[in-house]
Parts: sequence; C-alpha cells; structure tokens
Amino acid sequence: MSNGATAGLVRASSEFDPDAVTRPIFWQIGTAGEVVFYVLATLTVALFAFGVWRRVAKYRRGRSAGRWATVKNALFTPTAGVRRRADRHSVGVVATNASIGRRARAVGLAHFGVFWGFIVLFLGTVTLTVDYDVLRVTGNIVSGDGESWRFFHGGFYEIYSAVLDVFALAAVVGLGYLMVRRGMIKPFRLNYSRAQQPENGYSRKQFVLGDWLFAGGLLAILCTGLLEESVRIRGTGFPDHEKWSPVSWALAKGWDSLGLSQSAAHDGYPVFWWLHALLALAFVAYIPYSKAMHMLADGVNVLAHDRAATLRLPDPQPDPTHAGYTSIGDFTWKELLDLDSCTKCGRCHEVCPARTGGAPLSPRDLILDLRQWVDVQSGGIAILDRERRPDQTGPASPNGSTPIAGGVIPAETLWSCTTCMACVETCPVGIEHVGTIVQLRRTLVESGTMDPTLQTALQNLAGQGNSFGKSARMRSKWTKALDVKIKDARKEPVHYLWYVGDYASYDDRLAENSRTLARLLTQAGVDFGILYEDEWNSGNDVRRVGEEGLFELLVEHNIEVLANAQFEQIFTTDPHTLNALRNEYPAKGATYTVWHYTELLAHLLESGAFDIEPLGEKVTYHDPCYLGRYNRVTEAPRRVLQALGCELVEMPRNKENTFCCGAGGGRIWMDDSKLSERPSANRIKEAAALDVGHFVVACPKDMTMYSDAAKTTGHDATLTVADIVQLVDRAVRKPAPPAADPVGAPA
Ligand code: SF4
Ligand code: SF4
Repeated sequence: MSNGATAGLVRASSEFDPDAVTRPIFWQIGTAGEVVFYVLATLTVALFAFGVWRRVAKYRRGRSAGRWATVKNALFTPTAGVRRRADRHSVGVVATNASIGRRARAVGLAHFGVFWGFIVLFLGTVTLTVDYDVLRVTGNIVSGDGESWRFFHGGFYEIYSAVLDVFALAAVVGLGYLMVRRGMIKPFRLNYSRAQQPENGYSRKQFVLGDWLFAGGLLAILCTGLLEESVRIRGTGFPDHEKWSPVSWALAKGWDSLGLSQSAAHDGYPVFWWLHALLALAFVAYIPYSKAMHMLADGVNVLAHDRAATLRLPDPQPDPTHAGYTSIGDFTWKELLDLDSCTKCGRCHEVCPARTGGAPLSPRDLILDLRQWVDVQSGGIAILDRERRPDQTGPASPNGSTPIAGGVIPAETLWSCTTCMACVETCPVGIEHVGTIVQLRRTLVESGTMDPTLQTALQNLAGQGNSFGKSARMRSKWTKALDVKIKDARKEPVHYLWYVGDYASYDDRLAENSRTLARLLTQAGVDFGILYEDEWNSGNDVRRVGEEGLFELLVEHNIEVLANAQFEQIFTTDPHTLNALRNEYPAKGATYTVWHYTELLAHLLESGAFDIEPLGEKVTYHDPCYLGRYNRVTEAPRRVLQALGCELVEMPRNKENTFCCGAGGGRIWMDDSKLSERPSANRIKEAAALDVGHFVVACPKDMTMYSDAAKTTGHDATLTVADIVQLVDRAVRKPAPPAADPVGAPA
C-alpha cells in the first residue's frame, strides 16, 4: 500500500537509491508539491476536527446517560460477549466485528476485512510519521544526524510492506463483496422504501448517493494506493526488496506485461501519487459530515450499549415542566449517539413485527427520522444523509416547532411498537430503540393522544388493578372449581408465591390452564400460594405504554403486598410479569427470586416428581419475547418438551431470535384491525409449514393471540395451539383414585 502520500508524511530520501532497502518518499513530487501537500493535509485535519467538534457539541447537548460504568466494564472485559454479542458488549466484540457477523457471516467477514484493513493502513501511516517526521527531525536537532535515528528500512521495511499490502487486499476484497451485495444482490433489508409511505411522498436518493460515495471513496483510495505503489515499483526497476509488497509487485508486473516502460512509469508516477493523496485527504475531511461518521461513532456506541436498559426502562427525563421528549436536551448523549451510529443496514427493519404486519413503523426509519431532525436542529452537519419531501414536512422540516412525538415521529408510528426488542437484539451497533420509543410515548400519554381502547385499559388498571375492568375479588374466581383451596400467601407461609397475572386470572378461556397448573403442582407436593385480590397487574406493559405514574402506583401497591406476604421465591405464568419483577422492581428497592412456570415444571419433571407417559408428538415451540429474548429463558420449556417425549421441530425464528405475537408493549389493548397481517398470523404460518401437530406456548397472552390466529388463518384444523402445561397434564399419570367406599359393599 502507498506510503507516498497518506501513508508517508515524510520528506527524506525523495531520490531513489537502488541499494537502500526502503522506498523513496515524495518521489518525483518536488519541493513545491510537498508544500502543497502539507498545506492540504493541514486543511484536511482542520475540517475533520471541526466536524468532529460539532458532532461532540451535539452529543453534549444531551443529558447524562449513566453509561460510563458500562463503557469501563466493556473496556476491561475485552473478550466478553464475542460469542454472544447481544448480552455483553466489549472491546472484543468491536475488534472481531462479532455483532456484524451474527446471523450474517459473509457480511461480518467482509466488514472485518475492511475494518482491519483500514486500521492497519492507518497505523502504517502513523508508523511512517513517527519515523520521518518525528525521529528524523528530532535526530537532526539533537545529534545533527536524523537519518541514523530512523527505522524504516531493512527487515522492518520488508515486514511492514508485506503486512500493509495483505491488509489492503483484504479491505479491497471485503469492500468489493459489500458493494456487489448492495448493488447487485440487493437484499430486502437494504431497500430504503419507507413503511406505509407513498413512493412519491419522499425521496431517499441522497441516502443512496451517500452510500456509494462512502463505499466508492474507500475503494478508490485503496485501489489508487495499490496502483501508485505498483507504478513506483515499475518506475524504479523492480528493486528486489519490493517483492515484500506482493500485491503491488504483481500489479507492477502487470504494468510491465502491458508494455509500460520504466521511464513512462517514472514520469507518470506523480499523477497516481496526487490522485491517491487528494482522494485520501478529501475522504478524511468528509468523514464527520457523512455516513462515514459511523466509523467513529459505532465503536463508542457498542461499548456504551447496555441491553439491561431495555429490560429495565430508563426513568423519564427529569424536567417537571413536561413529560417525555420535546427537545434535543431531553435526549441522553447515548440516544443522540445512537442516531449517528445507524449504518442503515436494515436488520431491524427486516425483523420488526410491526413493519412486517404493515404498521407504519420501521425502527430503522424511526432512527433516521430522529437523526435528521436532530441534525437540522443542530445547524445541519450531515451533507448527504437527508431524506427529502416535496412538502417539506416530516424529518426534513427545519421547523423547530414541529413536535417530536406526534410530529417528527407520527403518533401511530410510536403506538405500533410491540416493544418486542427484536430491533435492539439485532442491531449490530448497539442502538437501543425501545427506550427512545417509550420516552416519546410518554409525551403522547401526557397529551392523551392514544387509542380509546388503550385509554379504557389504563383506566381499568388505575381503578381495579387489572386491564379487564373486573373487580379485584374476581381475580381468584378461577380457583373456585379446584378441589383444594390454594393457600393465601398473605395469611400463611408458602415456599412459592404464584404471581398469576391478569390474563391467567381473568380470561375465562385461560382459567382451565391455571387450574391445571395448580393441580399439577399440588400433585407434585409443591408448597405454593397466591395473593388473591391483592395481586395487581405488575405494570410491565403499563410502563412500556409510557404511563409512568400508573406504573409507579401499581409497583408501590404490589411491593407493599409482597412485603406483607410470607414466601421464599416467586414463580409466574406471565413472561411480562416475570420481566417486571426480575428487572424493574429491583430499581424500586424490591428484589426477589423469580421463576417462570416452565422453569419450575422443568425442575419438577427432571427431579422425578411426576410419572410420565411419553407423548411422542411432533410439536413446535414459540418463545415469548419477554421470556426468550428479554430474559433468555429458552432452555427450560425445551427441557419440559424433551421430558414429555415430544419431538421438537424449531421454527426458523426461535429462541432470542423469536418473532413477536403482536401483543406486547400494550398493543394487546389497542386496535390492530388496520394491519395487513397480524404478527400472530405470520407466526402461525411459519409453524404450519413445519408439519407439526401442536403450536406450544408458554404465555397466557400467546394462548389468546395464537388461538385466534390459527382460526383466522384456517390452520386450526391441523395445528392445535396448546399451553405447555396442557401437554404436561396429558403426559402425567394421575394418582389412582381413592378406593371405593366399602360401606354397602358385598361381603
Ligand atoms: S421493539 Fe419490536 S415492534 Fe418495536 S420497533 Fe423494535 S422490532 Fe419493531
Ligand atoms: S438501527 Fe441498527 S439495525 Fe437498524 S438500520 Fe440502523 S444500524 Fe441497522
């Protein structure tokens, strides 16, 4: 790779010396050329620094994010998360590009080549600068013999040449693949069409131009560098030591075979040198004003990423004069950095269940719209990264009075989110969409901008502690049909407190499943109890709706009730409740050991608590988002199915890569009739293609959503939606009934 310009801010040895194992710097450029180069380089650095300063000034307008401890942890656990990048972010994840290669190995490999190619070339430039501009100059001042201080010759030079050449080639190959993928393979995720926007209502041509300028610029720099070096090798007559630059050497041989004479290469060399130098300088100056900014932002964003911040949502911004976000100053610096980190890779766009179902939401576009709005509010730093709209509305509008929630981001977009976290999980650069969406929803809730059905549900929750609007006394009605009375954990000590949840308590279609679980636990001798009418909704989805005051109210009540109950551990039927109790309540000072009922069942089955008659059925299992993705409970339900002797056939989207049923984040309380396809229907179709008899669920809401979806898609005749507890019940051999009453029996 070249060190004549970008790789060689050097003055010495501009003449070629055939005996020296090194290369001439500024060869054929002349003193005037050197001066021009240094002037341009200084201008470049100034432009670059100015752009970076403006970006940093923008982030500094944001609030504290409390993430420095996260960054510190990431820095000091270098390899953590390399294999499971979604859980831990670290220097190792950044260095290996593990988050980019996850579920996209070829892209990860190509990006790895580009990433390390440019890092090594940059370090090569720094090395030369140290040699020529620091050691040589210092040596001249101190001893009058700067040449003897230098190390850029001999064996060092040969190794240096080989390393830089190989990494330059890796970058060219990686970049070539990424460009072919973007320009010819054209995967869906790289299509910039907006969700639910008329095609003539916006233009994203500048996005496309910016992408190609970025990728094309990098490729041009690499290619002109290699060409420039090859012409120098040809022009200096193939010095033997230049074989250590294998790529450039091969190219030089190519020049030779094409008939380029040594004198022509000698004379033409400055053209290549200047082309490479000017491209490189222009690109460096362009970085902070373009998509290339992600090269600086992403590393920090990945290190500052905290997945726990989606499990336990951030508190509202502290300004008491308004709720939610209404200005840049309401965002945290991490949220502002998130916006600049987006590479438009489209992975979140592809997996989002709202977008899949035809809702007007794409997490990618939400980030890009916010980015454009923040950029406009900050005086406009980006040059090409702009969407245009003919009517100058939306994110393109420079109008500072446009509200963010309900303006820059339409209310229906914000309400479309199921908070499934698929976007956060898949984003390779650590962007946390859900927290930002909920902060914006808080503004909508404050102004009452919401579905009437949601409003009713929230009123019910505030008045009765449940979204059904039924009286608290009705909560334990499902227990009445049991033979034994379930212990009241408020009145007597129990080992397990069963936090039943609203749906498993109030929905008549689900009551039998609750009773089945109660009977099985009783049969296994498990000591458990419930809170009867004192159990209130845990508040998980209320918080995700953005109703922070109601969330606080529910949590306060539940913590008080739990404090007066006598139990060792909690288990719950509801993954949403599990998330709240495990992750939200500790921040409110209440920490419990919380299990999902599948974890308890797996333990009971494996410890021989039940006598099992294997079912031998072919089933598939749906991981609820709040269980599988949020809380990583993916193995316990599978262990249950294995213990029951079921053959599990996995759906393509499984475990933490599961697909949302469409009910989360309060969506279950909203109208979904406008969707072109409900996420639950999409999921049932995925399962129906597997030729299995059962679609097994482990969440009461899933039971409701998927039973309906199986009917509406016409798959209910061949695919039975079953709660996992129903399968356990069918497999467990029941104890023999008590002997018949001997009274009156024949003697
Ligand atoms: S959380 Fe789920 S529904 Fe919401 S934007 Fe992300 S992927 Fe879409
Ligand atoms: S938010 Fe993340 S996943 Fe979505 S397009 Fe941007 S970089 Fe890709």
